[in-house]
Parts: sequence; structure tokens; C-alpha cells
Amino acid sequence: MNHYSIAIVGAGPAGYFTAQGLQNSQSDDRTFSIDLFERLPTMWGLVRSGVAPDHPKIKTVAKVFEKVAAEPNFRLFGNVEIGKDVDLADLTSRYDAVVMCTGSAVGRRLGIPGEDLQGSYSAAEFVPWYNGHPDFAGLNIDLSGTTAVVIGAGNVAMDCARMLAVDPTELDTTDTADHAHSTFHQSNIRKVYIAGRRGVEHAAFTAPELRDLPKLENTDVHIDANQVHEAHARAEAAGEIEKHLASNLEAWRLIAEHPKSGHARTMEFRFLSAPKEIKGNGKVEEIIFGINKVEGGKVVDTGETYSIPCSLVISAIGYEAAPIPGIVMESGKIKNVDGRVVDTNIYTVGWAKRGPSGVIGTNKSDASDVVALLIEDLGQPKEASDIAAVLSPDHQIITQDAWAKINAAEIAAGEPDGRPRVKEVSVPKLLSLGLN
Ligand SMILES: Cc1cc2nc3c(=O)[nH]c(=O)nc-3n(C[C@H](O)[C@H](O)[C@H](O)COP(=O)(O)OP(=O)(O)OC[C@H]3O[C@@H](n4cnc5c(N)ncnc54)[C@H](O)[C@@H]3O)c2cc1C
Repeated sequence: MNHYSIAIVGAGPAGYFTAQGLQNSQSDDRTFSIDLFERLPTMWGLVRSGVAPDHPKIKTVAKVFEKVAAEPNFRLFGNVEIGKDVDLADLTSRYDAVVMCTGSAVGRRLGIPGEDLQGSYSAAEFVPWYNGHPDFAGLNIDLSGTTAVVIGAGNVAMDCARMLAVDPTELDTTDTADHAHSTFHQSNIRKVYIAGRRGVEHAAFTAPELRDLPKLENTDVHIDANQVHEAHARAEAAGEIEKHLASNLEAWRLIAEHPKSGHARTMEFRFLSAPKEIKGNGKVEEIIFGINKVEGGKVVDTGETYSIPCSLVISAIGYEAAPIPGIVMESGKIKNVDGRVVDTNIYTVGWAKRGPSGVIGTNKSDASDVVALLIEDLGQPKEASDIAAVLSPDHQIITQDAWAKINAAEIAAGEPDGRPRVKEVSVPKLLSLGLN
């Protein structure tokens, strides 16, 4: 019987699914003890700090994570950042394998003039701000203007636009962070544009998200019906329309044809619009778009432009992995071959490995593929050496018990108002909740 110690870094879906994959791969001659490290005092990665507050059902996957964490071979080391509180080398020397599940949390930049003006944010800031991530809770998001522009054609852009465009009372029974909830209640934003560089047929929005749009009770959603017809015609001309695209185009048709109720709050899609410049005197006042067209299946610049006066720009055009000392990055991801960091005992799963694509469940199959490779590579187990000795004695570790206390306190705080939880956003306060 061989007993192996595995370190997992990052308590998001990839981290928990990797732990689950290891737990499910134990056999008569192989067992694992699993230590999961997370830099925050709160768990679940983007399930907590990414998934939109008005999509609570998606977050029920956290029950699966807590089941994994309840297994006797699992230990949690929350509030421990690898590369800061503990060196990666301390893990690679002690554990038989180290699995980096650190996600990709840095927003990709537009690379246009005016991007750094006040009022221009990345979704990688705006989303964790409304979701109560401690690193972003202090952002001073100004919603005093009437018009916001979201750049991007994927579900993250859609989340950002929806959060800005819905009536704030629709967020009253959600776990939107308190500071964001009150900012949304005072918001003057009434018009939200979502702009994509390519055509309707190229957008990465998924059909269920699109089909929810006509159901919005207090917001009219606009898309130019001609853009939908033209996209359909182009897709047809290019050959057989695949199922996913057919479903999306049908959802767009329904949005275009849905009767508008004359709500003051609107969300409007603008395709074939490439951001060229954000203008303003010290803060965002206007965004200039170049008009594209699709020619021979390619998106090309027509040379024409148009402008949208606005006070807020959110870019949601993708994410890159943050650098971690000791790890080589390549194209915004951890450099790896099928999840193996070649010539090391390091592996990677999830967004850190693949980049920012796929839904929560994608990380489950990803984790089981990489766990299979990791098991293939295992040799003789290393001698046990507890990592706790590396941490300074006054460093407060959020253990599974401490996290259970934080979780219970947040849930209890939400109960009086029918909210799933009230998120605590201050690290010192979270740490003290973990002690109670
Ligand atoms: C805005 C947004 C909305 C989304 N909505 C949905 C949705 O509705 N449905 C759906 O299926 N999918 C959704 N997704 C996708 C889903 O969230 C991802 O597929 C998934 O979270 C990726 O998992 P991960 O574990 O790779 O990364 P993450 O969830 O980002 O987890 C990474 C974890 O690693 C930790 N970490 C990072 N560096 C270190 C370090 N050095 N030391 C210790 N810990 C570290 C981080 O704090 C974090 O907790 C959404 C994504 C975003 C961005």
C-alpha cells in the first residue's frame, strides 16, 4: 500500500474537482492525503466571486465541494498564498505532486487609448467588486451617469451588462455584496450597451443566457433585427448551420421580436463594433467604435466610426493567469502539456491550465484527465513532512472548521432578509469570524 501526499493550490472548482478525482482514485494499494491551499479566507473561487448573484442555482455546486472537503483525507489551508506565505518549492519538495488550480484572474486589456481613464474597468475588477472579493471591495465604482458600455461578446460581458441594467430591487434577495447593492440602488444608469467586434453569429454568449433576456421584467433588450437576419444569411451561405449556432440565432430572433414594454432601463447589443478609443477629460465621457463588416467570412474594418457618450466602460474580453513565482507562464496560462508541467512534479487543472473557457463542469472532466496522468507518474511516496512547520506560527490558517464558521455566519446574516448570505468583504473580519 502506497500513501501519497498531494497539494492542491486554489479552492475553486478545479481545486475541488481535483480533490474529488483523487478521492475517487483511491484503491487497495493507493491512498491519498490532500492539502488544499487558498489565498483567501473564503472558498469556492469564481463560484463565489464570479458567478452572477442573480444566478443562485449555479452556486449550489458548492455543496459538492463541501462534500469533498468533509472526507477524512482532506485538509484546508485557507488564507495561505503560494508564492507569498509559502514558496512553491516548499510544496514541491514535501508533496508527491502539486496541482496548480489558481485560475486566471487578470483582465485582458483592450490596448486602446483612454483605457486607464477613471470610469473604465475590466470585468476582472467589476465582477469581483459586486461579488464581494476582498481585493476589489474598495473600488469606487461611479454609477452616477446614465449610460454604460460593456465590451465583449461572452457570458461574462452579459453578466456585467445585466447587473447594470436590471432594476436593483431584483438584487434585493441575492448575495450581491452590500456595498455594490447600495451603489446599484443609487445608480442612474439606464442604458447599457454590449458591443462585440465580430458578427452576431460569432458571439460566445450561450443560448440559455440569451433566452433569459426577454424574461427580464424591468428592462427592454434590443438587437437590430437586420443584424440577426444578416448573420443568419451569412451562416447559411457558409454551409450547414451547426446546432449550437442555430440555437443562438433562434434566441436572437426571439429577442429581436420580443415586444418592448417602454421600460426606462434598456440593454442594447451592438455587433461589428470594434472599440478604438475611450475619450474624456480625466474620466470616461465617450467611446469611439470602428464599424466592421463580414466579408468572405472575415471580419474587416470599414473605416467608418461612431461614438457612444457614456460614463462607464467595462471590458470583458477575457482573462489571463496571474504570475506565480516559480511557475512559467505561456499565453496567459501555466505552461503545460495536457496538464503536466514538464520535468516537475507540478500539474495544472482548470482556467490556469486551459485559459478562461468552459463552464464549471468542464473543470470536472479536466480534473479527472489530469489526475489520471498524475497517477501514471507516481513513483515511491515521499517521506511525510508537515507543511504547517513552514508557516510562521502567528499566521492564521483558515481550516475547514474555520471556513465552516465563516460560511455559517454569512448564511445566518442573510436569513432575516431572505438572502442566501451576506458576504463579509474584510479579510480581518473574515479571519475573526473563523475564530468564533
Ligand atoms: C464572471 C464569471 C461568471 C461565470 N459564470 C458562470 C456560470 O454562471 N456558470 C458556469 O458554469 N461557469 C461560470 N463561470 C466559469 C467558472 O467560474 C469557471 O469555469 C471556474 O470557476 C474555473 O475554475 P478554476 O478553479 O480554474 O478557477 P477559479 O474559480 O478562479 O479558482 C481559482 C482559485 O485559486 C485561488 N488562488 C489563485 N492564486 C493562488 C495562490 N497563489 N495561492 C493560493 N490560492 C490561489 C483563487 O483565490 C481562487 O479561489 C463564470 C466565470 C466568470 C469569470
